[in-house]
Amino acid sequence: IKLMVKEASEVIHILEKQGYEAYFVGGYVRDKLLNRNIKDIDITTSAYPSNVMDIFTHTVPTGLQHGTVTVVKENYHFEVTTFRTESQYEDFRRPKEVQFVGNLVDDLERRDFTMNAMALDVKGTLIDPFGGKKDLNSNILKCVGDPKLRFSEDALRMMRAIRFAAEYDLQIEKGTWDALVLHRQAIKHVAMERVTAELDKMIDGADPNRGIQLLIDSELMEYTKEHLQIHKRNWSALSNHRGLNIFQYIEDANIRWTLLFMMLKIETDQMKALLKKLKFPNKKNLSIHTIFQARDWLNERTYLEINWKQAVILYGEDTVKNIYTFLESIADDYSLLELLSFKMSKADFEQILQKGLGWLEDIQIKKINELAIKGNDISSLKTEPGPWIRAVLDQLLTEVALNQLANKHEELLNRAIQIVRGMNENE
Ligand code: ATP
Ligand code: MG
Repeated sequence: IKLMVKEASEVIHILEKQGYEAYFVGGYVRDKLLNRNIKDIDITTSAYPSNVMDIFTHTVPTGLQHGTVTVVKENYHFEVTTFRTESQYEDFRRPKEVQFVGNLVDDLERRDFTMNAMALDVKGTLIDPFGGKKDLNSNILKCVGDPKLRFSEDALRMMRAIRFAAEYDLQIEKGTWDALVLHRQAIKHVAMERVTAELDKMIDGADPNRGIQLLIDSELMEYTKEHLQIHKRNWSALSNHRGLNIFQYIEDANIRWTLLFMMLKIETDQMKALLKKLKFPNKKNLSIHTIFQARDWLNERTYLEINWKQAVILYGEDTVKNIYTFLESIADDYSLLELLSFKMSKADFEQILQKGLGWLEDIQIKKINELAIKGNDISSLKTEPGPWIRAVLDQLLTEVALNQLANKHEELLNRAIQIVRGMNENE
């Protein structure tokens, strides 16, 4: 981090030496005042994008239409954006046009919240025309300027308000909150991907419970293009379950999402469609859905060693590990499992907490390509190649994983011959 700040200061110095103004701005300034971890550094400058690209040897034109150039220095990426204002917001969304402006304060004025509208010069002087520091110190989230206007310019800011309030444990200032409630319908104009991205940061953040509560109180999710239905009464029962804020025990964002969907009693066959509707990135979609499938599969059996190991083969090691992490996180509270539709006896629950990880480690091989035999080696066992080859390999893998068969070519081949014979008899 120190190095990153040093490199960013260097970028600012270079811009200043060329006669331009340049400042740290936005999230970095906010997080520095709060002594929080810093993720990335944004710089705002009077230099035009073309100037920035002339001055630095390694740049990427990441958002020229918004005045943004990424400057790459020593493997760090800094977004350098020209002072600008925005105008002619289209339909509560992104501005149609940006205008470059000559001074910093005009640039800060277009930013969403007072705590995000501060700049820091390279000597460490804070430029804070809208009282962001004072608001931060009193834990207040407040729009820059007239909240009604700011939310109607860009409705995504309402989601951001809730996300930041949850993350930084802030009270939303009354005028800002009233405007949010008044304009909540405008969120329907915002692309679902952008809403989901904010939601995802919220779920991955410091206090998802609070964020969800604010979503419920504002009814904001009732007006998004696609809804995530969280019913007030259900939620308060869940989130206060024995006073436990379950999210605190779980770090992984995918597991947090899974948990939320399980708490909302969403069925596995509705999951895919819901995630698609909410425009989740595919990878996330897949891993959440797989955890659901694995839970259902296990629910139909028992949670004993053999099924647990089979689940690894069927759904992948990560999925089963995720389920384990998740069970571990609620180790003190067996009664939660019912809420999450796990059909697991208390004895199984305890057994898995004790032995589950050991069982996972005990599996010799977890993937077909680790078998000491290849598809080619068995393709001649029947007259025609086909899906049967994969089925045989799956069977071999399962038996090896369950320690019923050694992973040796000779033995695998013999067993494959047996399996194929069985198949032929059944045909
Ligand atoms: P984090 O990166 O931790 O989510 P951030 O404040 O850096 O927080 P970004 O989305 O990276 O958030 O935006 C950088 C800055 O750009 C913000 O601090 C804010 O000043 C401004 N900004 C971002 N989105 C908007 C918006 N929709 N309306 C007005 N200003 C915005
Ligand atoms: Mg940022």
